[in-house]
Amino acid sequence: MAWDESFICNICGTVKLESNHWWMIALGNVFCFEEGQPSRHFTLLPWNEEESRNPDVYHVCGEGCATKALERFMSSGTLEGSRADIRTTAG
Ligand SMILES: [Zn+2]
Repeated sequence: MAWDESFICNICGTVKLESNHWWMIALGNVFCFEEGQPSRHFTLLPWNEEESRNPDVYHVCGEGCATKALERFMSSGTLEGSRADIRTTAG
Protein backbone atom coordinates (compact mmCIF):
# COMPACT_ATOMS: atom_id res chain seq x y z
CA MET A 1 0.00 0.00 0.00
CA ALA A 2 1.58 3.21 -1.14
CA TRP A 3 -0.42 5.64 0.92
CA ASP A 4 -2.05 5.03 4.25
CA GLU A 5 -3.20 8.60 4.67
CA SER A 6 -6.79 9.56 4.12
CA PHE A 7 -8.39 12.85 3.27
CA ILE A 8 -11.43 14.25 4.96
CA CYS A 9 -13.80 16.77 3.44
CA ASN A 10 -13.16 20.09 5.19
CA ILE A 11 -16.87 20.91 4.92
CA CYS A 12 -18.84 17.77 5.79
CA GLY A 13 -16.21 15.39 7.17
CA THR A 14 -16.67 12.66 4.57
CA VAL A 15 -13.63 10.44 4.14
CA LYS A 16 -12.25 10.32 0.62
CA LEU A 17 -12.57 7.06 -1.26
CA GLU A 18 -10.75 6.29 -4.46
CA SER A 19 -13.83 6.63 -6.60
CA ASN A 20 -14.86 10.02 -5.30
CA HIS A 21 -14.53 13.07 -7.47
CA TRP A 22 -12.99 15.47 -5.05
CA TRP A 23 -11.87 19.03 -5.48
CA MET A 24 -9.37 21.20 -3.73
CA ILE A 25 -9.66 24.80 -2.63
CA ALA A 26 -6.82 27.19 -1.99
CA LEU A 27 -7.24 30.53 -0.26
CA GLY A 28 -4.60 33.14 -0.41
CA ASN A 29 -3.63 36.69 -0.83
CA VAL A 30 -4.13 38.34 -4.16
CA PHE A 31 -3.04 41.66 -5.52
CA CYS A 32 -4.40 44.38 -3.35
CA PHE A 33 -5.78 46.94 -5.77
CA GLU A 34 -7.28 49.22 -3.21
CA GLU A 35 -6.50 49.72 0.42
CA GLY A 36 -9.13 48.38 2.74
CA GLN A 37 -10.41 45.81 0.27
CA PRO A 38 -10.23 42.13 1.15
CA SER A 39 -7.05 40.75 -0.34
CA ARG A 40 -8.13 37.15 -0.41
CA HIS A 41 -9.05 34.89 -3.24
CA PHE A 42 -10.83 31.59 -3.54
CA THR A 43 -9.41 29.08 -5.99
CA LEU A 44 -11.14 25.85 -6.91
CA LEU A 45 -8.81 23.20 -8.27
CA PRO A 46 -9.35 19.71 -9.65
CA TRP A 47 -8.00 17.01 -7.35
CA ASN A 48 -4.27 16.60 -7.64
CA GLU A 49 -2.39 13.99 -5.66
CA GLU A 50 0.70 16.07 -5.11
CA GLU A 51 -1.02 19.30 -4.18
CA SER A 52 -3.55 17.48 -2.01
CA ARG A 53 -0.85 17.07 0.62
CA ASN A 54 -0.18 20.78 0.72
CA PRO A 55 -1.25 21.96 4.19
CA ASP A 56 -2.65 25.16 2.71
CA VAL A 57 -5.12 23.30 0.52
CA TYR A 58 -8.65 22.45 1.60
CA HIS A 59 -10.40 19.31 0.42
CA VAL A 60 -14.04 19.09 -0.58
CA CYS A 61 -15.93 15.95 -1.58
CA GLY A 62 -17.96 17.37 -4.45
CA GLU A 63 -19.76 20.34 -5.89
CA GLY A 64 -22.20 20.57 -3.00
CA CYS A 65 -19.43 21.09 -0.47
CA ALA A 66 -17.51 23.29 -2.88
CA THR A 67 -20.57 25.54 -3.00
CA LYS A 68 -20.81 25.58 0.78
CA ALA A 69 -17.15 26.43 0.99
CA LEU A 70 -17.67 29.34 -1.38
CA GLU A 71 -20.59 30.57 0.72
CA ARG A 72 -18.46 30.44 3.85
CA PHE A 73 -15.67 32.26 2.12
CA MET A 74 -18.02 34.98 0.90
CA SER A 75 -19.54 35.50 4.32
CA SER A 76 -16.55 35.08 6.60
CA GLY A 77 -13.43 35.00 4.42
CA THR A 78 -12.56 31.55 5.69
CA LEU A 79 -13.71 27.98 5.15
CA GLU A 80 -13.92 27.24 8.84
CA GLY A 81 -17.53 26.51 9.63
CA SER A 82 -19.35 28.73 12.02
CA ARG A 83 -21.31 26.51 14.35
CA ALA A 84 -23.63 29.40 15.18
CA ASP A 85 -26.01 28.82 12.30
CA ILE A 86 -26.85 25.35 13.56
CA ARG A 87 -28.31 26.58 16.79
CA THR A 88 -30.07 29.78 15.85
CA THR A 89 -33.38 28.09 15.09
CA ALA A 90 -33.74 26.53 18.54
CA GLY A 91 -36.26 28.01 20.90
ZN1 LIG B 1 -18.16 17.22 1.80
